[in-house]
Amino acid sequence: MTDRLTDLATRLEACRLCADRFAATKTQHTPRPVVWFAPGARLLIAGQAPGLKVHERGRPFDDPSGKRLRSWLGLDEETFWDRSRTAIVPMAFCFPGYDAKGGDLPPPRVCRDTWHDALFEALGEVRLRVYVGGYAQRYHLGVRTGVTETVRGWRDHLPGAIPLPHPSWRNTAWLKRNPWFEDELLPVLRARVREVME
Ligand code: SF4
Repeated sequence: MTDRLTDLATRLEACRLCADRFAATKTQHTPRPVVWFAPGARLLIAGQAPGLKVHERGRPFDDPSGKRLRSWLGLDEETFWDRSRTAIVPMAFCFPGYDAKGGDLPPPRVCRDTWHDALFEALGEVRLRVYVGGYAQRYHLGVRTGVTETVRGWRDHLPGAIPLPHPSWRNTAWLKRNPWFEDELLPVLRARVREVME
């Protein structure tokens, strides 16, 4: 890694800014930042925040959502988890805990305010940026539309970026209601991923 990225990764892994916030959640967990980037990455996956499984395993998208995301991207596990090719930078690096309905709490804003400017500057140019879910799309694309409308406008962001819905099982009904996603967007996404990984 470059010195700046190495320094950032080391400081991020030690970050405990949200310790009190997480201690007050039902899971009462401690921060465990999932840090996954290296110089030269061609593909950026900008998502929301780790879920509980990823918090326990320490590897991003090491869960059923990740399996679906890898299939959308057309990537095998080795390439997906190769940090020198794929950088995975969520809006918050730690599992935020559950809300009253059992869904994940929003990514704490303090995380992006503390880390993102320096991190994206140090990471430099990435050939393809994939924005997964509304939090990442609002932050990176500056859109104020909902996920469906933003993803429906995916062609507006080519060739450098593509917005995706979250690959969670919770969105299975969304996928059924929006067949254009699999029919039109996914073939282009896979072709762009192949191009940048060559
Ligand atoms: S979510 Fe971000 S700011 Fe909060 S403890 Fe984890 S790394 Fe630090």
